[in-house]
Amino acid sequence: MTKDLWSDRYASRANGLSASEVRALFAVVSRPEVVSLAGGMPFVPALPKERMIESFQSLMSDRSAVALQYSGGQGDPKLREHIQEIMALEGIKSDIDNIVVTTGSQHGLDLVSSLFLDPGDVVLAEGPSYVGALGVFRARQAHIEHVYTDDNGISPEALAQTIKRVQAAGKNIKFLYLVPNFANPSGVTLAAERRAQILEICRRNRILVLEDNVYGLLYFEEKAPEALRSLDEDGVIYLGSFSKILVPGFRVGYVLAPPSIKDKLVLANESAVLCPSAFSQMMISEYLSTNDWKAQISVFRDEYRLRRDAALSAMNEYLPNLKTTKPGGGFYLWVDLPEGVDSKKMLPKAVENLVAYTPGTAFYGNGTGQEFLRISYSYPTPENIKVGVERLAKTISAELELVT
Ligand code: PMP
Repeated sequence: MTKDLWSDRYASRANGLSASEVRALFAVVSRPEVVSLAGGMPFVPALPKERMIESFQSLMSDRSAVALQYSGGQGDPKLREHIQEIMALEGIKSDIDNIVVTTGSQHGLDLVSSLFLDPGDVVLAEGPSYVGALGVFRARQAHIEHVYTDDNGISPEALAQTIKRVQAAGKNIKFLYLVPNFANPSGVTLAAERRAQILEICRRNRILVLEDNVYGLLYFEEKAPEALRSLDEDGVIYLGSFSKILVPGFRVGYVLAPPSIKDKLVLANESAVLCPSAFSQMMISEYLSTNDWKAQISVFRDEYRLRRDAALSAMNEYLPNLKTTKPGGGFYLWVDLPEGVDSKKMLPKAVENLVAYTPGTAFYGNGTGQEFLRISYSYPTPENIKVGVERLAKTISAELELVT
């Protein structure tokens, strides 16, 4: 690595920036012989490319002057109408005036953090929680407190206790960050009856809820319960994305903000990017207007269900004694390793055995999580998932021999 000539000149918050464990893996896992169960890549090949080409041609021949130009900081009104329709599928009634289009939902996370987080503030999050969000909170010098989470999502009792403990220590809790549906990394969904309880606890303590729902429409059997935002318009900032229900390459996500926050969010968006890409937004809008996008989401569901089933049946065949979550949607399985096996230390050996996963430590802000790993089944073929899990089982049993 090159020596950093400017290391004494950085702002202190630059210390919070570190390569995520998932990013660091990308170079290794792109080798074709490695089965990657690591990064959560959407299965883009399931999207009919010809339909995208048609949208591109129509956009470029009819509206290129607008598509290639700067545009408004809040996002294209036509796309915001589509977003309104998409959110309605999860029970959300919205006004398009409160929707802000962002450069992926990752950017939405950063904008909200820039508005609310001062150094030393506390963000509450599920344990485990999405690595990319933890990175954003850390970069803002916030402290992350994980709240006990089980197979039904974050626990309301644990949430109330954590708030009490953190507040008694004199700390300022700014928001609760949640991935309530088919979570990254656990695959778990927050039970309907817990949702109202959690909102009530946060409302009482003046804590905003940041609801990150990028997987909600990718259910396999039952729909996810209605969004937390559908129960509380003023206390929930809702994040969505086209990355998982369409493609990540356009980098288009959105925030549905409480009306009182929306203006500041638009200003923050303008300050960061001037405007989200007009081209990307109009491509998505054109595609949605001229295609049966709901049927396409259903195609994605079928693809991911097939892969989830392959992953679970391979776990059952090769690692029957390990506890794993049984996701009802989304991209991920969360695996509890046998005692003494450390997922971070084991990773180089797994890669030697030509399989990659993400160690559990990536999903905790406090250095714990060694006893877990995340399997992402979204991209490999079902056959390769089986091969990958078999290689993982071989790696774990070699590791167990060392431990015992
Ligand atoms: N939130 C969650 C929970 C995610 O898993 C991801 C992508 N891995 C994102 C947000 C960011 O997605 P994007 O910026 O592509 O919309």
